[in-house]
Amino acid sequence: LKTNYKNFPMVPRVIFGAGCFGQLGEILMPKRINSEAPFIFLVDDVFEGTGLISRIPLIFNDQLIFISADEEPKTDQVDALVHKIKSDYDDLPSGIIGIGGGTLLDLAKAVAIMLTNKGNSYQYQGWDLVKKPSIYHVGIPTISGTGAEVSRTTVLLGPEKKLGINSDYTTFDQVLMDPDLTKGVPKEQWFYTGMDCFIHCIESLNGTFLNAFSQSYGEKALELCKEVYLEDLQEDEARNKLMMASWHGGMSIAYSQVGVAHAMSYGLSYLLGVRHGIGNCLVFQHLKEFYPEGVELFNEMKEKHNILLPKGICKELTNDDFEIMINVALSLVPLWENALGKEWRTIVTPEKLKSIYQKI
Ligand code: NAD
Ligand code: ZN
Repeated sequence: LKTNYKNFPMVPRVIFGAGCFGQLGEILMPKRINSEAPFIFLVDDVFEGTGLISRIPLIFNDQLIFISADEEPKTDQVDALVHKIKSDYDDLPSGIIGIGGGTLLDLAKAVAIMLTNKGNSYQYQGWDLVKKPSIYHVGIPTISGTGAEVSRTTVLLGPEKKLGINSDYTTFDQVLMDPDLTKGVPKEQWFYTGMDCFIHCIESLNGTFLNAFSQSYGEKALELCKEVYLEDLQEDEARNKLMMASWHGGMSIAYSQVGVAHAMSYGLSYLLGVRHGIGNCLVFQHLKEFYPEGVELFNEMKEKHNILLPKGICKELTNDDFEIMINVALSLVPLWENALGKEWRTIVTPEKLKSIYQKI
């Protein structure tokens, strides 16, 4: 009998609904340690100069830091932010608030952890390496799909690997889901990040780690994705449903794992800086042999929304380049084990992966 079940944390507080961003001030007030201990707002710089900024409840010596999401979060960037916050204030902050997509949510989680844990953030990339509880942190997604708002990981690009800080202290203490915040997302990005959620569902539901817990969330998320991307919903309904799809997709993989598309997409991202959402799409379109029904649905959704994926991404790569990507992908053992079972190495060889990368 298996007795090593994972006992994992969930987000203890969540507020959902159009316009709920207006309640942020009252949510934070009781969490203020004192007037010297600020809240630090890490905000996607796409919002610079927009109406959202004036609605951020800044008081005392709170600080707002704009951050670009053009590149995925890096361990160096986390360490620099932590250094800045520590040198700007005598006290530890009351909390960190991340406002943006997966990039900003992951940065907020990582900064909250590193404010109380010694050393550099790359030392904590892996599973359960964090020793001390993080400070209070809040996630406010402005684009839906990654599930970063619910997950117990923060994915960082480090000097040696792209890997999450997976720990019980990573999970947000509070999440605020206001679907109105996703109004300005450009169509292509809406598709790529939404497909991250769709791919989470396919990889979780078709994995060997599947169980009733994951399945219940994965099926719900998949149903919502189909409604959003294949039916003609009203815009506000679509925004609400995609936000909940992201949440359920994240919950589904919390108790299982992702699979082939994610493993290979990490390789693309590590070598070429290809971002997560589009990277998953670039890989997933060529995974018919692993996920036949999922790829068919994906193609339907892509056509309905006239999405043209870029081609020839790997055309100019050298053998060494391919080797780097393949090594990153193959190092993600739990993902392969979930996708193909314990004997995955008999199915997935470096040559096999190279032939898929060459199509991208
Ligand atoms: P993102 O945060 O990288 O943002 C994508 C683009 O959308 C950016 O240009 C951003 O400025 C823009 N954007 C965001 N909100 C907007 C809005 N309301 N209006 C206009 N533009 C907006 O995108 P993402 O796909 O959400 O996140 C990808 C990141 O998430 C990757 O770094 C990936 O590693 C990480 N991720 C983390 C987890 C996790 O569990 N921690 C899971 C999956 C992915
Ligand atoms: Zn993902």
